[in-house]
Amino acid sequence: MRIVVSGAAGFVGSHMCDRLLEEGHSVVALDNYLTGARANLAHLAGHPRFVFVAQDIIASFTVEGAVDCVVHMASPASPKDYLEHPIETLDVGSLGTRRMLELALAKNARFMVTSTSECYGDPLVHPQVETYWGNVNPVGPRSCYDESKRFAEALTMAYHRKHGVPTNIARIFNTYGPRMKLNDGRVVPAFLDQALRGEPMTVFGSGLQTRSFCYVSDMVDGLYRLMSCEERYPVNLGNPREMTILEFAEHIRRMTGTQSEIVFQALPEDDPKQRQPDIAKARAVLGWEPRVPLEEGLRHTVAYFRGIADTVA
Ligand code: UDP
Repeated sequence: MRIVVSGAAGFVGSHMCDRLLEEGHSVVALDNYLTGARANLAHLAGHPRFVFVAQDIIASFTVEGAVDCVVHMASPASPKDYLEHPIETLDVGSLGTRRMLELALAKNARFMVTSTSECYGDPLVHPQVETYWGNVNPVGPRSCYDESKRFAEALTMAYHRKHGVPTNIARIFNTYGPRMKLNDGRVVPAFLDQALRGEPMTVFGSGLQTRSFCYVSDMVDGLYRLMSCEERYPVNLGNPREMTILEFAEHIRRMTGTQSEIVFQALPEDDPKQRQPDIAKARAVLGWEPRVPLEEGLRHTVAYFRGIADTVA
């Protein structure tokens, strides 16, 4: 297939491009580098089935030639990034999604959007199942991301219902691995960076809020299966192993052998108290579940971050 990927220079986007190329597909990669990084795709320069186009998908654009599938992954995704770029975040989820759906419609192509567990907001149902409609503050600081993704899901369903576009919606839960930005503010790079430098590890709030961390190769495998599946409603993708942020900090301290102490800082507004994907649907529909244990995934991630620290030093 010839596949257009938006957000291709992002953390998950770049791994998705690798996987699509490994499977023998051709990739037309789009990114405006708002939060993505050139380095994430540097290894693909000169690949015969890979083309990169520097493109802001908010603007009008065309892709020459046949397209079989559109994979729409573009968006700031870390709280720090979307708080810094709230309007771009709303634009890419709304206008950007519209442009990518129009491309799929014009090319008679399939379409997949990467949505988020943030659609559930600060969830009152636990673990989160796809049929739960969520508890989102529509005017809080995280609303630029949550509502833009909820709009993207609604628009995707509208194009499917109105125009018959074969669509898929992935709800991605916390994902980690190589190519995350060290300074993107998310808890995995933040703790690893602090631990590797021997600086205090900043736990927000009591640290009793929970998250569940999925390694990026598992996530990309779930996405790859979903993009050829007939399921039109959202499918959760994530690792169900849940822990408190404090437990996660202790875990990182043990595995890096750091002397870093843990310090407590204010909890950001509307920070979800608990998050764990119910992946029964992904198991049933995709025959998918995560395979990489946290310990192994973190080893790969630490090696990557140590490499960056060595390069910078
Ligand atoms: N967090 C933390 N210290 C940090 C960064 C994040 O305690 O330096 C917490 C954050 O408050 C949240 C969890 O870790 O409860 C996960 O945050 P992240 O930004 O990775 O993503 P989120 O799941 O909130 O989208």
